[in-house]
Amino acid sequence: MAPRWSPDSWRSKPIEQVPDYRDAAALAEVERQLASFPPLVFAGEARELKAKLARVAQGEAFLLQGGDCAESFAEHGPDTIRDFFRVFLQMAVVLTYAGGSPVVKVGRIAGQFAKPRSSPTESQDGVDLPSYRGDIINDINFSEEEREPDPQRMHMAYRQAAATLNLLRAFSQGGYANLEHVHQWNLGFVEDSPAGHRYRELSDHIAETLRFMRAIGLTPENTPQLRSTSLYTSHEALLLGYEQALTRIDSTSGDWYATSGHFLWAGDRTRQLDHAHLEFLRGVKNPIGVKCGPSLAPDELLKLIDLLSPQNEPGRLTLICRFGADKVGDHLPALIRAVEREGKSVVWTCDPMHGNTIKAGSGYKTRPFDLILKEAEAFFDVHRAEGTHAGGIHVEMTGNNVTECVGGAKAVTETDLSDRYHTHCDPRLNADQSIELAFIVAERLRR
Ligand code: PEP
Ligand code: MN
Repeated sequence: MAPRWSPDSWRSKPIEQVPDYRDAAALAEVERQLASFPPLVFAGEARELKAKLARVAQGEAFLLQGGDCAESFAEHGPDTIRDFFRVFLQMAVVLTYAGGSPVVKVGRIAGQFAKPRSSPTESQDGVDLPSYRGDIINDINFSEEEREPDPQRMHMAYRQAAATLNLLRAFSQGGYANLEHVHQWNLGFVEDSPAGHRYRELSDHIAETLRFMRAIGLTPENTPQLRSTSLYTSHEALLLGYEQALTRIDSTSGDWYATSGHFLWAGDRTRQLDHAHLEFLRGVKNPIGVKCGPSLAPDELLKLIDLLSPQNEPGRLTLICRFGADKVGDHLPALIRAVEREGKSVVWTCDPMHGNTIKAGSGYKTRPFDLILKEAEAFFDVHRAEGTHAGGIHVEMTGNNVTECVGGAKAVTETDLSDRYHTHCDPRLNADQSIELAFIVAERLRR
């Protein structure tokens, strides 16, 4: 029997990546206020997502998860949200139509504000300050005052998440996602790229299919699947005081649910078995994920599965693999074999971003598109060899026309990086690169 869980039982465990708030009373007051605010998502929605992920675990669907590495307060415009939604829909359409698989759509959005850092401090020109930990904690500007963790920022994050979610719900259900608009989702700057051309061809095929369907009586007016979509939200459950404040009992089931997002995950740096982050996650009934990096051994993974998914419920646990393009073959087969041997049900998904970050000559953190593809291909190859389902991809991406990852068909070069390098944390795929990746993954799905 596992010891009793409560929304605050994580507080008695060792914890990593915790901000150094100076004013404990102010922190407690903010958490108390948040606990009295409405939930951002509902338990029924989280259960619906879990049921869809169960289909992924059973090999019948594919998970598309993506969005910013870190959302920022500065980039909270409607166009940014709309352009992300458009590109994400395009990727989903490519995977559904060209890949022939139902796609479960989960954004890294409406709550992805807290970042784990490799060092607690950062130095610039000989000055040492606390590292930037995401807009929910401190400010990216490099001054003593701005780097001070400020609990009031949690209010801002909550409000921004609520407004973002509101717009996403309207886009998903209010007609924007109607498949008859499939051509219009192409963004101006993508239209004249190789990925844009391929997308146009594909949307022509879809339009033709829709005309046929209309002729036989299936229209967006009478077929909800044609006029709306479901987009779920996710983020790393890192700032546990915030997560606890938004953890509520569902009146229907009597179970605890995190209501800050539909799907929460633990990062590769906070997945220690006996520490706070997994303690928190084990008690909420949402679908959850864990990032799996090269240091995760098969026996540790099995313990982690027993802790987080003791009922072995399909859809509950997603393993987000991020080894690095050259390391997939060394690590993934042993993990898959352990899981298969013990008859555990998980969703396997590939994060081809975090194991492939390099520093360009100019000093920018970047990710070569070739390595991202290589990791995704290796992930599919290993699953094919093991006879298991390569269940999804997890990417850092934006609908904006940024230059953060090098390569792609409309190649971003190292000298281009300085042009539009806007990320608050890790480099993201731009719209072109995201759609190109979706086409390549779709090809693997068909084989
Ligand atoms: C992230 O997803 O932004 C992240 C920090 O990932 P990881 O935990 O895999 O390093
Ligand atoms: Mn990241």
